[in-house]
Amino acid sequence: MDRRAPVFSTHGCRLNAYETEAMKELASAAGVEDAVVVNTCAVTAEAVRKARQDIRRLRRANPRATVIVTGCAAQTEPETFATMPEVDIVLGNTEKMQAERWARLAPDFTGKTEPVQVDDIMSVRETAGHLIDGFGTRSRAHVQIQNGCDHRCTFCIIPFGRGNSRSVPAGVVVDQIRRLRDRGYNEVVLTGVDLTSWGADLPGEPRLGDLVLRILRLVPDLPRLRLSSIDSIEADPALMDAIAGEPRLMPHLHLSLQHGDDLILKRMKRRHLRDDAIRFCEEARRLRPDIVFGADIIAGFPTETDAAFENALRLVEDCGLTWLHVFPYSPRNGTPAARMPQVDGRTIRERAARLRDAGSHAVIRHLDAQRDRRITILMESETVGRAADFTEIALDRPCPEGMLVPVIVTGHDGARLSARADAS
Ligand code: SF4
Repeated sequence: MDRRAPVFSTHGCRLNAYETEAMKELASAAGVEDAVVVNTCAVTAEAVRKARQDIRRLRRANPRATVIVTGCAAQTEPETFATMPEVDIVLGNTEKMQAERWARLAPDFTGKTEPVQVDDIMSVRETAGHLIDGFGTRSRAHVQIQNGCDHRCTFCIIPFGRGNSRSVPAGVVVDQIRRLRDRGYNEVVLTGVDLTSWGADLPGEPRLGDLVLRILRLVPDLPRLRLSSIDSIEADPALMDAIAGEPRLMPHLHLSLQHGDDLILKRMKRRHLRDDAIRFCEEARRLRPDIVFGADIIAGFPTETDAAFENALRLVEDCGLTWLHVFPYSPRNGTPAARMPQVDGRTIRERAARLRDAGSHAVIRHLDAQRDRRITILMESETVGRAADFTEIALDRPCPEGMLVPVIVTGHDGARLSARADAS
């Protein structure tokens, strides 16, 4: 029987994508063969449903492979997967990053290891930074700097999948970025669960801004550094300095805002109020006029009234948000919000649609303002690239993936810009 390298399927966030790259290297180093690895997400009930669907599909396509399920859904509800006939092994979020676990799976699963290996994630104190060589694409690489979360927002299951906040030491992060830069990456995205809590568990309690400035100082030839998402209320002074003074820090911040109504924000156990979010965006825009904001907003959080929803909707303009990620509220078992009076499904869907519509209009306003601008884009494929502010751009001629190309904006199609190469 011809032996095959493992097949990986990744669900969810950039942190999961980073960990899949690390698992690929662990599995290859251990000599694991004929395996299917599904790295799951637990952020919504729909994400768990999709993971189960994917497992069934992959089992049908790989009838003799070892099926390994890991990720946040495996961590928070291992039995959901352990009871599936398609599944051989369930690995927790810590276990999936341990070389010795993969060694016990090589060359294939012959029953010599426990089918469910999921320890208490809350007891984990460290995040081992895995140095990876690449990232599945040539355009940008995601680098994990932090894992877990110390907050307990009432709608969120993530801390139960990822444990408490742990930081990757700055030296390891810089080495990782140096390594990726040496392999030709022009852009690196710092990723984690709660980025702004980076450093709180390290000696001297450095802050995220300190790390950003250190990376840009110690990797002077890195053209573009991007942050995956931040909790604006926890942005530190050094980060604001970097936003103001470091052109290599991308003028694009994805904000974990979640809502625009103070009573709902309190019921979510968020650490900011509406005016804090507006003030942050005004200050960041004063420091960096070309900055563009994205944001996560939940529609239909329990007890949300029409008036409260209007406050969320108005936040799009009051903060000047462009890239909106709208999440129709979905109850997660075990979270406090799941026990609150729920908004009916139809209302949730209608409100999510209105938020998305507001988001589309914000995108068009942003795209209209870009015409004739001279900018540099990072090619994500031969014909499509991204601007520093994360705007997607179609180029008039092919260029290698991962290349930085100066262009002149010629127009847009309502979703992305079009541009021609700037030969000048
Ligand atoms: S900050 Fe809140 S929403 Fe974000 S991961 Fe932590 S608990 Fe979840």
